[in-house]
Parts: sequence; structure tokens; C-alpha cells
Amino acid sequence: MKHVPLTEALHQYICTTFPAEDALLQRIKQEAEQAGLPAIHIAPEQGALLQVLLRAIGARRVLEIGTLVGYSAIMMARALPPDGYLLTLESDEHHADYARVNIRAASLDHIIEVRVGRAQDILHSISGAVFDAVFIDADKAGYTTYLEHSVRLVRVGGLIIADNTLAWGKIADTTTDDPTIQALQQFNKALKAHPMLHSCLVPIAEGMTISVRL
Ligand code: SAH
Ligand code: MG
Repeated sequence: MKHVPLTEALHQYICTTFPAEDALLQRIKQEAEQAGLPAIHIAPEQGALLQVLLRAIGARRVLEIGTLVGYSAIMMARALPPDGYLLTLESDEHHADYARVNIRAASLDHIIEVRVGRAQDILHSISGAVFDAVFIDADKAGYTTYLEHSVRLVRVGGLIIADNTLAWGKIADTTTDDPTIQALQQFNKALKAHPMLHSCLVPIAEGMTISVRL
């Protein structure tokens, strides 16, 4: 297997050589932790990858499913043009409140809209292939449903990206009875089988699938 194990030193090297996390984003994470919110934001190097991908496809409009306190939304919005738009969906009112404060602190409230509600419900009300990219990072049980909507909502040549698709290292465990891991296995299987997607799984952080809409 051709593979360089990621050490603390290598991770530090990657994040300082190609930085995506600035002092504001660090503070946002610290404040979220102090407030007792879960530390389940994307990793900084994932932010760097998302930014490069969004710029590569000339993204102007992005949909995010799962806001938390806005860490990944802020990272992605920074790779959009000044008239760009990022819609992020969050079911937890408390998380959304934090996110709005953070987005204002990042001076991105003209680009990012936080919409509160279950993504399953909100997605139904959106029509047309109006997004250049979707980032899926909410409840794992919803991933396959979010995928169906994403295929509908992303333009041809756009991207559908999903986080945690290595399932904390357990994705290859075929004997698992953990519904969260099973949901991610189902999701990856659906990606592979989808005739309108060309996908890969990047072993970054907890794993991230990247699919291009054919
Ligand atoms: N993308 C964020 C992390 C998201 S954590 C970042 O990297 O910074 C997952 C978020 O999804 C949580 O805030 C959780 O409240 C939200 N969530 C869970 N189920 C949801 C649902 N059905 N619809 C919308 N949001 C949901
Ligand atoms: Mg995640």
C-alpha cells in the first residue's frame, strides 16, 4: 500500500504551508468549544482542499448541509467571488445563532445565508440545477437523501462533496451494526452506482468523497 502515515509534524507542515485557517477561524473553534458545542468542524486541510476545488470549477453558488457554527461555510465562502452565494442549512437554532454571529465577524453576511430547519424539508423547496457545488456534512442517516437532492440541484460539471465518508476508520467493516456507519456505507455505494456521477474518496481527515456531476 502506497501511503504516508499522517504524523502531528506532517499535519502541522501541511497546515502552515498551505494555510486555510486564520486567527478568526481559530477563535471561532475555541469559542464553540467553550460554549460546549461539539468540535466536529472540518479539518483545516479539508478547508484548503474545498477552496481549491471551488475555485477550480469557478463556483459562484454553493449549498452546504450542516452549518454548526459556520467554520466550513466561512472557509468555502472565502473562495467565492464577491457576488457569490452560499446557502447553509442547519436544524439546530442554537448552532445557527452562533453561525450568524461568526459569519458577521468574518464580514461574509452578504454571501452566506443560514437557513434553519431539517435539510430534508428545506431541500424539497429548492428547484433547478442552481448550485455549482454541494457540501454534505450533517446527520449521516440523511446522506443518501441529500445525495438525491444534490444530483438534482447541482449543474453539470459541478461538485458534490461529502464529509466523514471513511466513517472514523470503520467504513470497510462489513459486520458492523452501527446505523451511522451503515448509512455512510450505503452512501458510498450509492455514489459508486450513480450513472450521473464520477466519484472518488480522498483519505483526508475522516475521509471526503468528491463527485463530479456528469
Ligand atoms: N460543516 C460544519 C460541521 C457540521 S456538524 C463545519 O465543518 O464547520 C453537523 C451539523 O448538522 C450540526 O450542527 C447539526 O445540528 C446539523 N444537522 C444534523 N441533522 C440535520 C438535519 N437533518 N438538517 C440540517 N442540519 C442538521
Ligand atoms: Mg463532518
